[in-house]
Amino acid sequence: MRSAFISVHQRLILLFFLTAALSAQTYDIVLSNGRVMDPESGLDAIRNVGIQGHTIAAISGRPLQGRTTIDAQGLVVAPGFIDLHSHGQDDENYRYKARDGVTTALELEVGVSPVAPWYAAREGKALINFGATAGHIPARMFVMHDTGGLLPHDEAAHRVATSAEQRETEDLIRKGLDEKALGIGLGIAYVPTTTHPEILNMIRIAADRKATAFVHMRSPGAIEPGSVTESLQEMIADAAITGASIHVVHITSMANGQTGLMLEMIAGARKHGIDITTEAYPYTAGETRLDSAVFDGNWQQQLGITYKDLQWVATGERLTAETFAKYRKDGGFVILHSIPEEAARQAMANPDVIVASDGMIYNGTGHPRGAGTYARVLGHYARDEKALTLMTALRKMTILPANRLHLQQKGRIKIGADADITVFDPARVIDKATFEKPNQYSEGIPFVLVNGTLVVRDGKIVEGIKPGVGIKAR
Ligand SMILES: [Zn+2]
Repeated sequence: MRSAFISVHQRLILLFFLTAALSAQTYDIVLSNGRVMDPESGLDAIRNVGIQGHTIAAISGRPLQGRTTIDAQGLVVAPGFIDLHSHGQDDENYRYKARDGVTTALELEVGVSPVAPWYAAREGKALINFGATAGHIPARMFVMHDTGGLLPHDEAAHRVATSAEQRETEDLIRKGLDEKALGIGLGIAYVPTTTHPEILNMIRIAADRKATAFVHMRSPGAIEPGSVTESLQEMIADAAITGASIHVVHITSMANGQTGLMLEMIAGARKHGIDITTEAYPYTAGETRLDSAVFDGNWQQQLGITYKDLQWVATGERLTAETFAKYRKDGGFVILHSIPEEAARQAMANPDVIVASDGMIYNGTGHPRGAGTYARVLGHYARDEKALTLMTALRKMTILPANRLHLQQKGRIKIGADADITVFDPARVIDKATFEKPNQYSEGIPFVLVNGTLVVRDGKIVEGIKPGVGIKAR
């Protein structure tokens, strides 16, 4: 009698045809024979990666067939880099980001307000993925009628908010979270009249909404009262009180010589159950607006620098007491040569400090971090200085920032993940942007894919395509 079930022999034949059918599948793009490095799984091996539509569909030791095949032999195939701190949110900046291996650039520190129109203005028009928090600074500036631009200039920086203004600001933040902003952005140093209870209220909103607060802390440096230690203690306390998740931005430019102590404090808080993380950029200088509240008080003692350590972005000149006064009245960006090399190196070497650029290039000017952050970590700190391994460097650029935002499909080379992929030459990758000439693309990053579309090919931007999408809270 014939069985209704197929025999072992028949099963083997079926399996053979299935395997043949699978291997005959043609993917949209195949990255062949690259060294796939995935910090989440620890995979570090020669593999072929098949991309179908927006998604990574195959990771195989066997050859794969693609409509487009890219020879990645000798190159590293890594998850696309995720920049948690990218003020430059326009086409000029997205091009520098893509050439630096960044596939997702997010404005989380200052943030935006209102949120929905900001996303709508970029949808379908962005080279790479973008996103933002609901920003306390812009919300407060709107409510208090401040005349500044990116940063407050008068009312929001120098006046104490009335309780009505505080409530209005909180309502704007909640509305931004309703519109799926990626958390709450806080820059306390730029609005120093914001009281401790006001900040605690903001952190409470973050906790209630299960959103992370991204914070430029109250003040930098070692001078008490108002030290960076005190500022970090405020954040750790607010997190402990509310249960909120807090991400402290650019730890080195806040802590300078006390970077080691701040990293110890964060590690200690984490060990005792506080969800607090931090980030840094690989440079010995910061940048901000000279007309901001950062220069209101005793900045020279706080930061341990003086006029000659300030570099006026528009001309590249170092400042004096006279030019400081003049330019502060005019308003504009200034570079602060304030971070000891040891602090930058310590933050880069620490496996838990996320790499984030804090970058913004405008008409080709600005701080080199806007163009060179990621290639500089890979080429300078990992390869040349051996401050950290290549896998650790990638971890700090991919899975750590993805996990900070609970992005399950980004920051990993995994079947089913979004095909945001950066392909670089580990022997050649390097930053070219300098303080004098920041508008230089990084080198040694020949291929970058955003949602399965090549945005960099053979080391050049692919023109006329905009595959970036808005990244929003779940
Ligand atoms: Zn900042």
